[in-house]
Amino acid sequence: ANAPASNFLRGIIEADLAANKYANRTDPNGHTLPSVVTRFPPEPNGYLHIGHAKSICLNFGLARDFDGRCTMRFDDTNPTKEEQEYVDTILDSVKWLGFNWKDDSGDHLYFASDYFDQMYFMAEYLITAGHAYVDSQSAEDMARNRGNFGEPGKNSPYRDRPAQESLDLFRRMKAGEFKDGEHILRARIDMASPNMNLRDPAIYRIRHAHHHRTGDKWCVYPMYDYAHPIEDAIENITHSFCTLEFQDHRPFYDWVLERLAEGGFFKKPLPEQTEFARLNLTYAITSKRKLLQLVEEKIVDGWDDPRMPTIVGIRRRGFTPESIQLFCERIGVTKSDSWIDMGTLEGALRDDLDAKAPRAVAVLRPLKLIIDNFPENLQEDCTAPVHPHHPERGHRTFPISKELWIEQEDFMEVPTKGYFRLFPGNKVRLRYGYVVECTGCDKDDNGNVIAVHCNYFADSKSGTEGSNNYKVKGNIHWVSAHNALQAEVRLYDRLFSDAMPDAGGKDFKTALNPNSKEVITAYFEHGMGKALADDKFQFERHGYFVADRVDSKPGKPVFNRVVTLKDSWGK
Ligand code: ATP
Ligand code: MG
Ligand code: MG
Repeated sequence: ANAPASNFLRGIIEADLAANKYANRTDPNGHTLPSVVTRFPPEPNGYLHIGHAKSICLNFGLARDFDGRCTMRFDDTNPTKEEQEYVDTILDSVKWLGFNWKDDSGDHLYFASDYFDQMYFMAEYLITAGHAYVDSQSAEDMARNRGNFGEPGKNSPYRDRPAQESLDLFRRMKAGEFKDGEHILRARIDMASPNMNLRDPAIYRIRHAHHHRTGDKWCVYPMYDYAHPIEDAIENITHSFCTLEFQDHRPFYDWVLERLAEGGFFKKPLPEQTEFARLNLTYAITSKRKLLQLVEEKIVDGWDDPRMPTIVGIRRRGFTPESIQLFCERIGVTKSDSWIDMGTLEGALRDDLDAKAPRAVAVLRPLKLIIDNFPENLQEDCTAPVHPHHPERGHRTFPISKELWIEQEDFMEVPTKGYFRLFPGNKVRLRYGYVVECTGCDKDDNGNVIAVHCNYFADSKSGTEGSNNYKVKGNIHWVSAHNALQAEVRLYDRLFSDAMPDAGGKDFKTALNPNSKEVITAYFEHGMGKALADDKFQFERHGYFVADRVDSKPGKPVFNRVVTLKDSWGK
């Protein structure tokens, strides 16, 4: 493989390695810890999407490249929105992308909820040390007293309450003596800080809610900004990568860890947070809330609808893990937000599958072609390579006979300028077969062409001496009508026709592409009856297709179009 391209996150890691910053660390059992430990920390409240794939490739990829470790952590500190179903699909998606949280040192699958006891204990310490207090203002007073950007906030009247009183209240919060919102635990930092995140941020709130893993054990839950640095430190994370919107949260991240290091909970060097630009992909939306809306309003056929930018969706669409990794490598990481063109993702799939996918013939919009001078009951074998650049992969065989299916667009009764395919009097090559000359067509009462007629030249077969005597410009694909496989094809296209469907508060539902899914019945060379769920093909002249992993049955595949051969958008 090629050396991965450099980027600023690699630069940071390389500098830390050169300085031995995280060298010589050991875990509590005395085992040496890697000098690079990253994590992928999703909240189990939805399906992963292509934006998460960027984070996965980044975190697991950097750990792999620097002989480090990447932990798989569920950030499940918010009881009300989280479910086991999401845990399962997230693990499945990460594995499918080609990454693994198990290594020689163990199984690094973690749940933030497993740290609740420690987080609670640390919060008691912060109270005792004078770094946190229980605030009893109403939510409205608290919001008002927080002030606005450019204008200092006001101290809560409870801010100087004695530590012992806060500790007592905090314990009673935990014991369930109060209702949601009655009290809240806050860090004591600086109500005049220009950074709003340092104006005594909340660290624990009361939430009488059932948690998918801890059940009813807790009725106080840690806030994300307090929990995340602790999760990182417990897992010995060195580099904590997150998206840019967390930049202003970093001072609090550092504050939490510094205070807890002072308390002897963590040893230096502490984990460090670095922000990178989130992925914005054109013709897609990557907000969990909006994706949920697409599913709930049945605009798409579920989370794994092949038009969805979810990992389960793009997998079902026919994208390969390698193409997603290639895409993430190509887009790199930057420090400023930008849009990545959907064409880049599609291009990565083409580049991955071009070398891998076996070729096959499919006729998507069938029209009958009758070779009038072909013997009535003859079926003659034609051969074609499985892959044009890999002769070692062998050949496929399919018969030619008197009646074939060709594409409707490969015939024009009255040709336009520059049209080289079938029209009366013109010759074309039937790919892997014979040269034929068109003689005319049959029409129904409405004037629609229902069959095309031609004669073949018996000495023109592809691969024989005589074939060289025929120079024709058109070269069309076909399948024999007598044994072609008939199967359903789902022609997928982009879900939105607007490149930025939800930019600037636009209603993304007005930007839907009405032609994002078309279901047709098509004809295939008969060998395609053996296609198994998830098998991928290049259907010659059409593009890349996959046998749908849900609806394909043995002998009865259903095909999804992943992408066309060339990018035709905007052209
Ligand atoms: P949403 O905002 O849609 O709820 P989220 O960012 O809160 O999604 P998490 O489950 O918390 O979702 O995300 C897990 C990890 O994936 C985080 O580290 C987050 O920064 C990263 N991530 C999420 N979306 C993107 C994106 N579009 N590009 C890059 N990384 C992302
Ligand atoms: Mg989140
Ligand atoms: Mg988010």
